[in-house]
Amino acid sequence: LMLRSTWAEPENKCSNLQPQCPDSGDRLKFNFDLVPNILVALQDYTPCSETQCICYVLNIRRDLESYAVTGITQKMINQSRRFGTLYKVLNGRLYRHPDCTYPSRCANVEHFLLDVVTGLPNMEFVLNVCDWPQVHFLSGLSGPVLSYSITSQHLDIMYPAWSFWSESGPTLQLYPLGIGRWDLMRHHLSAVASRLPWKSKKPIAFFRGSRSSKERDSLVLLSQRKPDLVDAQYTRHTSDKSTSSLDAELVPEMPFSGHCGFKYLFNFRGVTASFRFRHILLCKSLVLHVGEEWQEFFYIALKPWVHYVPVSSNATAEDLEELILYLRLNDELAEQIAQRGYDFIWNHLKMRDVECYWRQLLLEYAKLMTYDAQLEPEFYECCPIFLARSTV
Ligand code: UDP
Repeated sequence: LMLRSTWAEPENKCSNLQPQCPDSGDRLKFNFDLVPNILVALQDYTPCSETQCICYVLNIRRDLESYAVTGITQKMINQSRRFGTLYKVLNGRLYRHPDCTYPSRCANVEHFLLDVVTGLPNMEFVLNVCDWPQVHFLSGLSGPVLSYSITSQHLDIMYPAWSFWSESGPTLQLYPLGIGRWDLMRHHLSAVASRLPWKSKKPIAFFRGSRSSKERDSLVLLSQRKPDLVDAQYTRHTSDKSTSSLDAELVPEMPFSGHCGFKYLFNFRGVTASFRFRHILLCKSLVLHVGEEWQEFFYIALKPWVHYVPVSSNATAEDLEELILYLRLNDELAEQIAQRGYDFIWNHLKMRDVECYWRQLLLEYAKLMTYDAQLEPEFYECCPIFLARSTV
């Protein structure tokens, strides 16, 4: 819990504080109250304007700040190019070096780049499509490198992940071509959510995913002890290396739509930020977001207590149990946060916001270029792949 709290034993113990325990709400006493946090957060919150991607532009300023004085020099790019794929924008066309660690991820990022490239100034940039960012502030490297997820210790410049578009990772049995096509998934999940009113959702905390980070263990352990409160189980990892050393069977995957039937959905970091955050917010369920270290470009506009409930990465199984019980007893508050989380993603994380972010990022980036980018022999021009699409 963000607020460390203690659990006061109810006088008349109902068996294990199960949901079916009559009037259990009256008998529980919490030594913490989340209402003040919510009130303060709401008071401090300024909603984003309708202007496309305006909610996220502060990231761009912050990520490019390191180059404000020096600009981006050819020497920097020469040092950075080993950390990703070098792209060039020349006369409104996009060119790239043939090497890419994950070609399908590069192709999916190119979908956005090709959308915005016309009219952009000439530039070159290094795109990292590995999960892990490349420029730790203690590494002595200057960058620039574009990465999809960073912490405050990284100097990488954030870009919208490849998974916003179509056929690239993570691949699951459920989604063999990747979880992408955000434009379609948005509408799908929103339709699922509208068929599932809050009262129809199970008052259970839910999580499905691989053991890509041990921060997930507390919840899975709690699920083993309190299956009526939590259903959190590990699935096989996409790279098939996942083990469950918690003596738990790996279970089949659950589609995002299946998550929407539960009131409380947990989001944990994986290797870096997990793609599930934006999806589960669209369920109109309450998202419990664990840790605040790993960011994606849109996290900056999502506010704790306004759009989700923040949970410490160090929360124990007992902490999580208390929190879920508290939320059960404060059902209206939980529903309101869930609705605001949904509203935010639905209104401010459209496909055109993602495109807008790319455009703004590259426009600001190009202003820092101190030299003229030139075509090099091995580079080839990227061409659009035509697919039916929706821009909302
Ligand atoms: N996922 C899913 N259903 C599952 C397991 C995973 O939809 O049963 C999604 C999950 O939400 C995430 C992606 O698949 O977006 C990869 O999940 P995993 O836990 O393997 O890795 P993460 O990226 O979260 O570390």
